[in-house]
Amino acid sequence: MRKYAVGVDVGGTTVKLGIFDTEGNPVSKWEIPTRTEDGGSNILPDIAESIKKEIVANDINAEDVEGVGIGVPGPVDDEGVVHKAVNLGWGKFNLVESMKPLLPGIRVKVGNDANVAALGEMWKGGGQGHKSIVAVTLGTGVGGGIIINGKLVNGATGAGGEIGHIHIEDNEPEACGCGNHGCLEEYASATGIVRLAHRELEASDTPSVLREGEVSAKSVFDAVKDGDELAIRVAEKFGDYLGKGLSVIAGVVNPEVFVIGGGVSKAGEILFKFIRPSYEANVFHGSRNVEFVLATLGNDAGIYGAAKLILSD
Ligand code: ZN
Repeated sequence: MRKYAVGVDVGGTTVKLGIFDTEGNPVSKWEIPTRTEDGGSNILPDIAESIKKEIVANDINAEDVEGVGIGVPGPVDDEGVVHKAVNLGWGKFNLVESMKPLLPGIRVKVGNDANVAALGEMWKGGGQGHKSIVAVTLGTGVGGGIIINGKLVNGATGAGGEIGHIHIEDNEPEACGCGNHGCLEEYASATGIVRLAHRELEASDTPSVLREGEVSAKSVFDAVKDGDELAIRVAEKFGDYLGKGLSVIAGVVNPEVFVIGGGVSKAGEILFKFIRPSYEANVFHGSRNVEFVLATLGNDAGIYGAAKLILSD
């Protein structure tokens, strides 16, 4: 008998959902809006109703659904307690308990969205075939998910894998979104790359295509590919910080592979050329031969990983 798991990725504007068979083949993928009004109180009932309908629409018996995994944007502990999800209007509550009456008889598991996405990349994405991976999401911020020997490193309060806030620079005048100064995210995110580019543009008169038009992470790496000297300096700074940050992480968890995703990763494997030198110069020799690969699931990593949460035990 074919069995299934449902993966749910709750974002600030849309909830992504997917039904997968136990081999990870998608049966159905869809989205619903996230209704954040009233403290986000409609979100879970909306998810439950939508899942019930889709299961029926695909001729699946509820008994053949192994469970529903849910990734949420905020810290989550192993008991399923969400500590706070600002984007959803949620305070602290036990999500697993809240889902029980909405989906009677169906097992529910919950995890932090970045951690869950890492699980997805390991299952069916860039980290396939590995058991110990560090997934790094270079987007507006820098997110991460760490899986060691098949287990998510969630930590005491669900803040494990928050690699964007590793302290990497002592002399940073601007504050990070978290309130600290000198976090990895301030240099390795899309906004961080733009910050580095503006500083480089102000510090020199080097001619650069970046002096025309708006600077973005994409315009920087496009310029790098065209051999733009100033853009290459920006990419080297970015790579220095990120390589050093990843060498620190490798010193703690010794992964087989770093899976690099998020908007910045659209630049492609050229990123590794800038990350590797500082990684290799700083890392302990036992972790020097780690692989760098690109994430492949894009925005679907969350629903794959959420389904895998259910299927992995
Ligand atoms: Zn920070």
